[in-house]
Amino acid sequence: MISFYPGPSKVWDALPRYMQNAWEEGILSVNHRSPEFIQVSRTCIRLLHEKLNIPDNYTILFTSSATESWEIIAQSIIGKEKSLHLYNGAFGEKWFEYTRKITGAASAYPFSPEALPEPGALEVSSDTLLLALTHNETSNGTALPDAFLQEVRMNYPDQLIAVDATSSMGGIKLPFELADIWFASVQKCFGLPAGLAVFVCSPAAVERAQNPGENQHYNSLGYMLKMIEEAQTTYTPNVLGIYLLMRSLQDSPSTEVTHQLLRGRFSGWTSFITGHKDLSFLIKNRELRSSTVIPIEGTPAQVDRLKKTAKAEGLYLGNGYGEWKNTTFRIANFPAHTEREIQQLKDFLSTFNYSSI
Ligand SMILES: *Cc1c(COP(=O)(O)O)cnc(C)c1O
Repeated sequence: MISFYPGPSKVWDALPRYMQNAWEEGILSVNHRSPEFIQVSRTCIRLLHEKLNIPDNYTILFTSSATESWEIIAQSIIGKEKSLHLYNGAFGEKWFEYTRKITGAASAYPFSPEALPEPGALEVSSDTLLLALTHNETSNGTALPDAFLQEVRMNYPDQLIAVDATSSMGGIKLPFELADIWFASVQKCFGLPAGLAVFVCSPAAVERAQNPGENQHYNSLGYMLKMIEEAQTTYTPNVLGIYLLMRSLQDSPSTEVTHQLLRGRFSGWTSFITGHKDLSFLIKNRELRSSTVIPIEGTPAQVDRLKKTAKAEGLYLGNGYGEWKNTTFRIANFPAHTEREIQQLKDFLSTFNYSSI
């Protein structure tokens, strides 16, 4: 089965080899305070800086998921202060809901998946501590252009900016310097099994986490930052996950190369979909389409039959999400997919009989 689900998704073809090596090298039983673990963890962090172009003065930590990262931001960064959540889909909304429950002072700024808000007109009160953005909204296949992030950064120099990049980090080149916190779990663009996330902090985010520093939780950010100085975590981490991330980064080209590859494949998908009489993009505004998650519209009966037939042929397509559950299916355009697999899916979509009942 080839998974085109936008997360968890297809893992790297080299994974069985990495896993066998992990077992042979004793990684699966290694102590998380041992020099062996520290070596893997340090190498992984160094490779993240190098391959993803993460600035040297930004700190990289490990969490177990994007969801945990939302919670850490609420607990250790926002605290009792105000946050404003800009979102156009289900993941951004969920992040807002979690934060509201924890801090009691989160506000929502929902916007249309077809149009971006005007950054200058957001009416961010001066006592708002943090702006929360979703870089790639996996539920509807929209992405925030770099120019938008740039404008938000310029308009709100006094706010911290946190960005959920779960379905783009590892595939798309991210403008790290335009925000203070970036995070992503690894079961999407990174092509790895779930249970690990990468959490990136600017110097300003580190400063906020340390002063005065909230210390009520096992995952209080100040405590995590202290431990990561020695390449360690506050609890026994997903050691295998960190090892697999290290191995896959070693074998990956730089983010510029992967970015170009995915953009090229996305433009291939765009020609394919626009040239196909039965398929159309959920998102009509080309400027906002994500290049890593592609939702395609259909009637509920068509979508249902298409997904079932594809699955029977070994191609696992993503369900629609939230309000688009029955009227869309989603295709992941992630780096672990091969040209041959993409062609196989295109062949299927070309020959599928869309009209039969
Ligand atoms: C998948 C996803 C999440 C949730 O990730 P977990 O690893 O399950 O916590 C959060 N945000 C976005 C944008 C996602 O795509």
